[in-house]
Amino acid sequence: MSNKSRLVIGCRRCKEGYEVANYFADIPQHLNLTTSFHQEDINALFFENYSCPFCHNTLYITPPIIEFVSVFENKNFHVKFEEYYIRIINEQHYIGLPKDKAPEDIYIDLMNSGIDIEEDITLPNTREVQYLQDVAHEYDRNQWVLEFESGNTEHSIDELTKNRYK
Ligand SMILES: [Zn+2]
Repeated sequence: MSNKSRLVIGCRRCKEGYEVANYFADIPQHLNLTTSFHQEDINALFFENYSCPFCHNTLYITPPIIEFVSVFENKNFHVKFEEYYIRIINEQHYIGLPKDKAPEDIYIDLMNSGIDIEEDITLPNTREVQYLQDVAHEYDRNQWVLEFESGNTEHSIDELTKNRYK
């Protein structure tokens, strides 16, 4: 895999079913629990949408989700959409932005803990936080895993997450 940014999509119920309960002991080799899409594959997703290969549930890929990938393509952080938080991950930071809090209030909260998102280029600024919140409202986060892996960080989401809990 080249060191390029990619959008990772997966069905949360099937992924967690597999990881926790090991539902699919006989999972066929060619099926993956999550699928990666590079920039050039994203437009096709808009027309085809994403269907879970296991339960066939469909995630409708809306224009804001498509646009999100090009806007954040060259950023120096990964984005992981969780149910109530938007997780920003890179070598310097591992922070959760509340999905429903006003970006101005998030700015102040982070400022109080010594992080200035308007100055720190490794983090989304206030306008970009708003953008991420809009994407988070485009779909049911409870049903879908949606992550953006930046090609501009040295380590992957998995590596940076594992290192935190070592
Ligand atoms: Zn599924």
